[in-house]
Amino acid sequence: MRDIIIAGNWKMNKDAGETAKFCGELKDRLADVSAPGLRVIVAPAFVLLPAAKQALTGSRIEVSAQDVSSHVQGAFTGEVSAPMLASLQVSYAIVGHSERRQYHAETNELVRDKVQMLLDHQIIPIMCIGETLQQREAGETEAVLESQLTGCLNGIELQTGKELVIAYEPVWAIGTGKTATSEQAQQAHAFIRNWLQARFDAQIAQNLSILYGGSMKPGNCEELISQPDIDGGLIGGASLKTDDFVSMVHTGISVLKKGK
Ligand code: PEP
Repeated sequence: MRDIIIAGNWKMNKDAGETAKFCGELKDRLADVSAPGLRVIVAPAFVLLPAAKQALTGSRIEVSAQDVSSHVQGAFTGEVSAPMLASLQVSYAIVGHSERRQYHAETNELVRDKVQMLLDHQIIPIMCIGETLQQREAGETEAVLESQLTGCLNGIELQTGKELVIAYEPVWAIGTGKTATSEQAQQAHAFIRNWLQARFDAQIAQNLSILYGGSMKPGNCEELISQPDIDGGLIGGASLKTDDFVSMVHTGISVLKKGK
């Protein structure tokens, strides 16, 4: 069975004090929560990864970076390398987020290099793909997903499928309050899983968690993650509020218990 993952992408929010407070609260409120098959992740800004790690010491909540350099070291001012993340025992890094693609002109080729870099350093990439509204309305969703998957995973080899997470994030649903319907999301997730099966194999496709991202919140989380191919959420806005985030973790547990 696949893990359910509830991951909070904080983007450029929360300072040092807020990070320590939020993580401390999360640790306390989820202290008794132990559900095999559930992974809970928070992704603060680079500079706050150590503060988050420290505040979460002794809990099962894991920490993710929001990006990584495609270079291993050297004269790349402002960048953060995979070995640096590994030296902080950071377990995950988001790559290919639509905001990186939009504001920093990141291409599938660059995302591919970042995925490889993370895999080489035993960090799990949370690789984001998704279509724009214009592409959806033009009926291009599957073609866009296919081209992103092909480009971002070009030459990438996987052993089990557990070493990579994919987040399907329709760009039109990110931070807009518009959520894909559970049918739209399930259809895209099934397409991604079928593509993975054809590109890798059935085992890898079955093991790999595919998250939905795009205005997920307590009110729509259960319906979305109850879909057969939706294995959790990459959550922006609603992950910044402790009550909402904790509520979605509990939803993950109840969906797991129903044995999806
Ligand atoms: C995201 O940033 O990955 C995201 C899904 O944001 P939001 O939940 O705010 O739409």
